[in-house]
Amino acid sequence: MPTTARQWLLNGHPRGRGIEDSDFKFAEVQLPDPGPGEMLFKTRYLGFDPAQKGWMENIADYVAPMAIGEVMRGSVIAEVLASNGGRFAVGDMVFGSVGWTDHFVSNGEGLSKVETDLPPTAVLSVLGTTGVTAYCGLFKVGKPVAGDTVLVSGAAGATGSIVGQLAKIAGCRVVGIAGGKDKCEWLVREAGYDAAIDYKSGSVRDQIKEHCPRGVDVIFDNVGGSILNDMLSQIATGARVVICGGISRYETGTLPAGPQNYFNLVFRRGTMAGFIVLDWAAEFPQIRKRLEGFVKEGKLAYQEDIQHGFENAPDTLKRLFVGANRGKQLLQL
Ligand code: NAP
Repeated sequence: MPTTARQWLLNGHPRGRGIEDSDFKFAEVQLPDPGPGEMLFKTRYLGFDPAQKGWMENIADYVAPMAIGEVMRGSVIAEVLASNGGRFAVGDMVFGSVGWTDHFVSNGEGLSKVETDLPPTAVLSVLGTTGVTAYCGLFKVGKPVAGDTVLVSGAAGATGSIVGQLAKIAGCRVVGIAGGKDKCEWLVREAGYDAAIDYKSGSVRDQIKEHCPRGVDVIFDNVGGSILNDMLSQIATGARVVICGGISRYETGTLPAGPQNYFNLVFRRGTMAGFIVLDWAAEFPQIRKRLEGFVKEGKLAYQEDIQHGFENAPDTLKRLFVGANRGKQLLQL
C-alpha cells in the first residue's frame, strides 16, 4: 500500500536577509513500497541548527550545494514502520540527516540506531552534533587547562550551554554572554556558569572587564560581529580564540566588519582558529559515550525546546535567529 510523504522543499536562497515563508514550498509525494533491503520510516523529530540557513544560502563549500526543489536538509529521528529485509527491525528508532519529510524509504545508509539510556531526543541534542561540537571546539581547539578563564558567546544556546559545563568539568572559570535576563539567570543557576553577561543590557566590553579581570584564556565564539570584537579586547597572554559560529552575520546583507581588536592577538601572543566538527566524525562514538557519562553522573545538564507539528518546521527554524529557543531546537511530528 503506497504511503504519502509530506515534505518541505527549498524554494529560495535567503542570502543577505532573514528566512521568509516563501523560501519553502510544501509538497506531497507518493513513496514506493520498500524494495529488497529497504525500510519505510516515519519521522518522529526534526533537529534544527543555525547552519541550515547557511546551507539554504549555498555560500559554504563544506557541504554540497542545495538546489531549489530539494527536500530541505536537516537531521531527524525516525521509526521503522515496515521492513523488506532491511538492516533495522520494525519499531527501531534511528537518526541521521534525512531532511524535512514525514515518511521516507531508505536502505538505512547514513542512519544509525538510537542506542542510549537517555531519552531518544538526546541523539539530536547533547549527544548529537550540538554536543560533539561543544566538545571538539572546546577541547581540541580551545585546549583549556584548569584555572583558565573561558568566555562563551551564545552561551545559553544548545552548544554554548554545553561548552560552559564542559569547561567547568575541566576546572575552568566560565563566563557566558547571552541575550536577556532570563537566559543569564538560567546560565548561572542551572548551567553552573560563574557569571553571565546580558548583551542586550549595558556595555558588553565593560561587563567582560568586570567579570574577567585577569583576562580571557579561551574564547568560544558562536556569534561574531561586535560581540567577538568586545571579547578580543580582553584576551590574556596566550589566549585561544575558537570560532564555532557567527550567527549575528546570518541576516546581514554585507560581509561583517572585521574585528578591530584583532591586533590584541599580536600583543597577547594569541591564536584564533575556526573548525568544522565533521572533521572529527570518526571520534563521535567515543565522544558521545563521554558526554552520556557526564549526563548520567549529573555533571552535564541539557535543555531541549520541543515545538510541535510538521507544518511548523519553517517557523521553528526561524526561532533560532531571534533567540526564541531555550536549548536545542527540536520539532515533534
Ligand atoms: P543555539 O545557540 O541554540 O541558538 C542560536 C542562538 O543564537 C539563539 O538562541 C540566540 O540566543 C543567539 N542569537 C541569534 N541571533 C543573534 C544575534 N544577532 N546576536 C547574538 N546572538 C544571537 O544554536 P546552536 O545549534 O547551539 O548553534 C550555535 C552556533 O554553533 C551556531 O553559530 C552554529 O552555526 C554553530 N555550529 C558550528 C559548528 C561547527 O562545526 N563549527 C557545528 C554546529 C553548530 P540569544 O537569546 O542569547 O541571543
